[in-house]
Amino acid sequence: MERKYKIVPLPNDEPYRWWRLFDDTYVIHYGEALDLFLLLGSEKALLIDTAYGRGDLPNIVDMLKGDRELLVVNTHEHFDHTGGNRFFPKVYMSPLAFVNADHAFGPLPQEWLDNMPYPDYEKIPVDDGYVFHLGGRDVEVLATPAHCKSSLSFIDHGRRLLFPGDELDAGQANLNVFESVGAFLKNCKRLKEREAEYDFIMPNHNGCPVAKSYLDDFITCAQHIVDGKPDLVDPDDVQDFCKGFFKGHLRAQVGDSCINYLPEGFEIPRGPIAEIFKKEIAEADEEGRSV
Ligand SMILES: [Zn+2]
Ligand SMILES: [Zn+2]
Repeated sequence: MERKYKIVPLPNDEPYRWWRLFDDTYVIHYGEALDLFLLLGSEKALLIDTAYGRGDLPNIVDMLKGDRELLVVNTHEHFDHTGGNRFFPKVYMSPLAFVNADHAFGPLPQEWLDNMPYPDYEKIPVDDGYVFHLGGRDVEVLATPAHCKSSLSFIDHGRRLLFPGDELDAGQANLNVFESVGAFLKNCKRLKEREAEYDFIMPNHNGCPVAKSYLDDFITCAQHIVDGKPDLVDPDDVQDFCKGFFKGHLRAQVGDSCINYLPEGFEIPRGPIAEIFKKEIAEADEEGRSV
């Protein structure tokens, strides 16, 4: 591969693999469970998310996009989706993602920063209803905040795919507080109303594509939680899950769906989760709301 960008490999880099889902649609897989997507139109290419800012991502994208103009967009502000933004001169994202998009989960080594050609990349706000015109392929933006307040989903009208970011994974939705379950339910119902416009769902984690019938199970699962009769999994059966990051979470399961959430009134633990969402929590504290 010809390398336009000189990237020095770092100790914790994991490998990329990529494959064509269609002739004009790449899945770029980083490490064990994170996918990015590259959609090719006749004139422009759209990269959905940038992973952790590791390895040869800009060279891989540069090679795969051909001579198309590259657009880059984030599904939401979490660093596993935004870490590589500084590989690119401009990145589209929800305006709600501006504050936290550059906030890493841990300290960033100088060698990591030295690999970044655009440390002061431009953030371009994009919101519900915006359409990326890639040339013969339109990609529509929907605001779908629940897992994260800055979440955007995308309907690719060209290949009839729905990209929901982390709003739902293959088999699970991670909703950090009880109030997010209601927002999630509303979003799923809206996506269900639009289901005639896509054939498959393309989450960023744990495998894709998944059948759109997942939405039915997610809607039932979320509705039952909101109605106060959640289909809870016995905590003894998910002991490993309920440790560390997910300490205190409940897991409800219906069919192929599963929702992980904190019970109503549960305080965000000041443990590892607080470390990861430090800025979000500080901001919320200032504004007197919960995250
Ligand atoms: Zn996320
Ligand atoms: Zn993620």
